[in-house]
Amino acid sequence: MSQNILVLNSGSSSIKFSLFDMLKGIERASGLAERLGGNDAELTIKSDANKLTINLEKSDYKSTLLVIIEQLKALGLLTTLPIAVGHRVVHGGEAFSNSVIVDQHVINSIKACTPLAPLHNPANVAGIEALQALYPEIPQVVVFDTAFHQTLKPEAFLYGVPYELYTNNGVRRYGFHGTSHHYVAEEAVKRLQLPSNHGIITAHLGNGCSACAVKDGKSVDTTMGMTPLEGLVMGTRSGDVDPGLHEFLSVQKGWDIAKITSVLNKESGLLGLSGVSNDMRTLLDAADQGNEQAKLAVDVFCFRLARQIGGLAVSLSTFDALVFTGGIGENSRPIRQQVIDNLSLFGFKLDAQLNQKNGDEIGCISMDQSPKVLVINTQEEWMIAKKSHALVTAH
Ligand code: ADP
Repeated sequence: MSQNILVLNSGSSSIKFSLFDMLKGIERASGLAERLGGNDAELTIKSDANKLTINLEKSDYKSTLLVIIEQLKALGLLTTLPIAVGHRVVHGGEAFSNSVIVDQHVINSIKACTPLAPLHNPANVAGIEALQALYPEIPQVVVFDTAFHQTLKPEAFLYGVPYELYTNNGVRRYGFHGTSHHYVAEEAVKRLQLPSNHGIITAHLGNGCSACAVKDGKSVDTTMGMTPLEGLVMGTRSGDVDPGLHEFLSVQKGWDIAKITSVLNKESGLLGLSGVSNDMRTLLDAADQGNEQAKLAVDVFCFRLARQIGGLAVSLSTFDALVFTGGIGENSRPIRQQVIDNLSLFGFKLDAQLNQKNGDEIGCISMDQSPKVLVINTQEEWMIAKKSHALVTAH
């Protein structure tokens, strides 16, 4: 019998998906349905043999999921229905420290976390409910971005605000990108054959960026907080700012909370600092051509990251490895170089040649006498498929 697992990431106007053959341990297809709800909704499916783009006449979640599954069947990639569907869900609050099989209680609990992720959780639930309506016989699993960080201790997850805001309103740090941090930390342990007591810092640098301290396989601190806005400078997000900034901007600029939130999320970070782009490739090219503002944005990005890595190190007993992942971490040699240069206090030394080729056979880019620095391609979808497979085959 086939052992296919479909992994879905349902957003407010898109559904990203990957289909895995768990017997062979390979991805068979991936794709994106985008501009859902609009007149120009489109589905792209990629597999080894094909790249297919089709217009979606009806683009609600249910119709779109039906087309995705029918197309996968038509392409011969699915002969029977998947044995499970794994969903990426952004916020599990304190209710979930692990992946779980979906039932009504799980759906209600994800809905209850909506105030913490008002844009993401409703879309994630819509994907789950649409699939449930179409194929009630397929078991569904949810894998939370927050779950890996549920091992943080109170001193790492509490803010210095009245305690009742935590107990009554859930105001605390949750952390995100958990699936990616978990995957690359496990990979680092395997590749470096580290003992069970180890200390690793993982830096996931994509459009969103976060770093995580992993001690003995568990997340002990991370840079994102109650929302994905806290922490590092990102593509368009500010990362940490003085909380006094909100009042200052409302008085000086007359901005309301919605405007300030939008500026901090969509017009800040690399884009806001550079005025050029939120895309690191574009910024590095512009900086090379002498654009000072682009160079400044890159400098702030690297300094802030190094500064946060220094802070995360406090939670470790040993610093065995620093791992770069995400689009920037996996590809951007000058960024890795600059971050490591900022971390010389910890004894880090980059091997320029290894950095140039994104690492040796295990992804190592550091010199022998340095703590290890690894480049590891993140595999969030594969991790979701593995967790889903483990849960449905255990039942
Ligand atoms: P997302 O968070 O949307 O999944 P990605 O992980 O794909 O994003 O990362 C996107 C970022 O990675 C962009 O800033 C992009 O410029 C950067 N990136 C991708 N490839 C390179 C490269 N070769 N050099 C520098 N940056 C790169």
